[in-house]
Amino acid sequence: MIQNKAPGKDITTEDMKEKFPLAAKDNNNDFSTFEVNGITFGDKCIPVMAGPNMVESEQLIIETALSVKKSGAHFLRGGAFKPLSFPYRSVKYNETREDGIKWLGIAKKEANIGIITEVMEEKYIDLICDVADILQIGSRNMQNYPLITAAAKTQKPIMIKRHYGASLRDWLGAAEYALVENNKKVILCERGVSVPHTHRDSSRFLLDLQVIPAAKEITHLPIAVDPSHATFWRPWVEPMTLASIAAGADSIMLEVHPDPNNSAVDPLQPIDFKSFSDLMNKMESISEINGRHIKNV
Ligand code: PEP
Ligand code: MN
Repeated sequence: MIQNKAPGKDITTEDMKEKFPLAAKDNNNDFSTFEVNGITFGDKCIPVMAGPNMVESEQLIIETALSVKKSGAHFLRGGAFKPLSFPYRSVKYNETREDGIKWLGIAKKEANIGIITEVMEEKYIDLICDVADILQIGSRNMQNYPLITAAAKTQKPIMIKRHYGASLRDWLGAAEYALVENNKKVILCERGVSVPHTHRDSSRFLLDLQVIPAAKEITHLPIAVDPSHATFWRPWVEPMTLASIAAGADSIMLEVHPDPNNSAVDPLQPIDFKSFSDLMNKMESISEINGRHIKNV
């Protein structure tokens, strides 16, 4: 009989050798730390990616880029192509697509900051690669293997968000699809899982903090955490960010918006510029307990 020889509930030592040998630790993998735009992932520094949910307008993205950069963020986040849960759109709630990518490019130059943005369709990968420093595979596309393969082939760094129903094993399988394209710059991002919980009816997900140490037993890949999508609730973003860092997160993604209540998408979750700046200082303090740091200076 085949035995499940731990290390994880559904992950066997055979999986680590045969199913995801590149993502697994201890297979002589030599790419657990890597640089993106001069910023090292997987080492002492904990890179922060901050920005609005959606690239709503040129002015909004430039203003946000300048502010988060000043507070010490390493990358600007924001989606121009968005996997919105429902197909209906209003003028405000509408993807900015090619325009949004152009505005990200302008913000990148004005603020001198790297860009992470989501790719949803293979046909836009070239366009997005003109401005993106990291390609984000959204949670809903975590098992869209042709998309991951195409994104990985560009050799741009890839961040794969965990689907909210995916096991660690499935998530590592998705990462392996990128790694097998000889792309050695892969980041995993926990963003909350969909499980029954009662803390608040409007909180859609539960941040799986425990997956951080669990993943680190199995993989050498850097683990990012997105407490904004996980909590869906502004007052919880700060405590969950600090907890993520205490638990060993290698990078943090945060939604930051100049006027959070008027965010076009998910207005309950972004924090404002001042809160972000204050949080960066608290993150710095917490990171020090693990011998790490946030700010590049
Ligand atoms: C996002 O980061 O903009 C996003 C849509 O996140 P997720 O794929 O985790 O829902
Ligand atoms: Mn410090």
